[in-house]
Amino acid sequence: MRTTQDLELVHLTKRYGDTVAVRDINHVFAPQSYVCLLGPSGCGKSTTLRMIAGHESVSEGAILLDGSDISTLPPARRGTAMMFQSYALFPHLSVRDNVAFSLKMKGIDKAQRHAKADELLELVDMGHLAERLPAQLSGGQQQRVALARALITEPRVLLLDEPLSALDPFLRIRMRAELKRLQRELGITFIHVTHGQDEALALADEVVVMNNAVIEQAGSAREVFNAPKTEFVARFMGGHNVVSLPGGARYAIRSDAVRLADDGHAATVTSVEYQGDRVAVTTRLADETEVVALVAEEQFFALPKSPGEAVCLAWDEGRQHRLQS
Ligand code: ADP
Repeated sequence: MRTTQDLELVHLTKRYGDTVAVRDINHVFAPQSYVCLLGPSGCGKSTTLRMIAGHESVSEGAILLDGSDISTLPPARRGTAMMFQSYALFPHLSVRDNVAFSLKMKGIDKAQRHAKADELLELVDMGHLAERLPAQLSGGQQQRVALARALITEPRVLLLDEPLSALDPFLRIRMRAELKRLQRELGITFIHVTHGQDEALALADEVVVMNNAVIEQAGSAREVFNAPKTEFVARFMGGHNVVSLPGGARYAIRSDAVRLADDGHAATVTSVEYQGDRVAVTTRLADETEVVALVAEEQFFALPKSPGEAVCLAWDEGRQHRLQS
């Protein structure tokens, strides 16, 4: 297993005419980690991924792998592999031949490339379906084949563009556990593009939050969730309230840290939503700011509140987190 495989983006920029899709980003990806590029639609995630893969040219800057610039190499010579959202399997080739395809292009003989393809199909639990055609597979199975096909090139970095978005919610959760297992077993870096914060939190060793073509914050999933640097990150990660306190500074406070108390910030309940283990009480402060308190079920029903009622909100000062303006 390799140990040094730092992938680094240096002043990376992509322009499409007047549009700047990626603006001067700098980042070192921790080796052998599961990284999620997270952000709203249009923030530059896919463009970043495609530049790393070599499916998109770089306008300015460099992409370093082990210290050498790969940004002008063809995709097959970069040490990266990409798994596409659409899977892009060849419909007329068997599962085995789909997986073996890139080895065929390299002139590797049939016995050898089939042996390697079978090995990878075992890894993704698809060995028993090697003879089938893609049309005879479910969406989840096609995805496993696409994964095996990307991994057969023994990439240093696997790039995944919204890999779970085509799956139903149940399968999505199963496949994300599978992706995480594969990443651990292979010990290579996975860079996974998603716009789902729950997906990123569940999977990532490192979350890189993008907004408007730049990296807004990067860190461990817990760091980014618990200590959002900006209002954008606090709102995008969800589960936080953003309030202005006397003096004008803005703070993020997790909804589960807000209590209904005897005194504190005066607010009016605007809606109450039962969530099973807890109740989401949405309120409005005097300055119109919306604040959600997540109250444990038993606690709420001991002293239930209804829309229109006046309440007091309190939280420990230690739980409020100052945001950069
Ligand atoms: P994301 O993956 O975060 O949804 P993208 O990287 O696809 O965002 O796009 C970032 C920005 O670049 C968007 O404004 C998008 O419209 C623009 N863009 C992406 N691809 C192209 C292209 N081929 N030509 C022109 N503009 C593009």
